[in-house]
Amino acid sequence: MSEIIVLPPNRAIVLRNKTCAYCGLPFGPNLPETKEHVIGRRFVPLGSLANQWNLILYACEGCNGDKSDLEDDISAISMMPDELGQYAIDDPRIKAEVARKAAKSKSRRTGKAVADSREKFELNGAWGPATFTFTLTAPAQIDEMRLYRLAHYHFRGFFYWTSYERESNRGGFVPGGFFPLAAARRSDWGAPHLRWFKDIVRNWDVCVHAIGADKFFKLLVYRHPEKAAVWSWALEWNQSIRVIGFAGDEKMIASLVASAPNKQMHLLHETEKERFAYKVNSPLAQIVDDLFTIVTEIETDEAAVPRAR
Ligand SMILES: [Zn+2]
Repeated sequence: MSEIIVLPPNRAIVLRNKTCAYCGLPFGPNLPETKEHVIGRRFVPLGSLANQWNLILYACEGCNGDKSDLEDDISAISMMPDELGQYAIDDPRIKAEVARKAAKSKSRRTGKAVADSREKFELNGAWGPATFTFTLTAPAQIDEMRLYRLAHYHFRGFFYWTSYERESNRGGFVPGGFFPLAAARRSDWGAPHLRWFKDIVRNWDVCVHAIGADKFFKLLVYRHPEKAAVWSWALEWNQSIRVIGFAGDEKMIASLVASAPNKQMHLLHETEKERFAYKVNSPLAQIVDDLFTIVTEIETDEAAVPRAR
């Protein structure tokens, strides 16, 4: 049974690591270290990190810059209201951030400021002899791959810390791969594959339960109790986007994921020739929203970072 260590909620965890926490290369004259806040200071709403913990370590310039670039538009877009004008949460800090950021951050898809980015989606369908085209516009979107890449940085940062050796000032990396399963906006947190994921992992051994930046950042990492080379991870950003997946041994993860449900498709109309389908959003009722609640005998402070040995 692993022992969970609960750290003080208001103190930064600072590493003096000698290799990049993200790519593992040793620092030297050709690879200078740069200070890196794993929860990016501009990624979460202004002021939400005040008197809260953060994980501060060194990364190489390349990794640091790449992560900052991902954080820039993902942060802005995660705080934007949806196509119906609804914010993920009703918090004045989010609205203030949106006004500040949306004009500054560029959508990586449209090349324009996030605030000015409207994306067009065309849906084509047919009903008997008539065909129709819907054109929908929506606020700026994020490529799923960018979400997965940022999730990978967050996962690596925390894994590096939990495997950190003070004698050598080095942390470790998960043996095997990183396998994102899904990303979902708040309106879709109740989707079947997210519920499937929660049920699969909830009795695994907790590795990291980290809630910070006034709950604008959440991470929960479990390790499979028997298959030691399999981890699960779930991230929540700005109370708006959740990204989930696994890491470790590819074969074992493939056999786990084989039982995952597909994203729910609602079929409206189907003939031999055409098919018109759309994805139904599945909002999650607050009462069952326990993805980031751990089943453990230890009562933990929400703002604290326990760590398993
Ligand atoms: Zn690096």
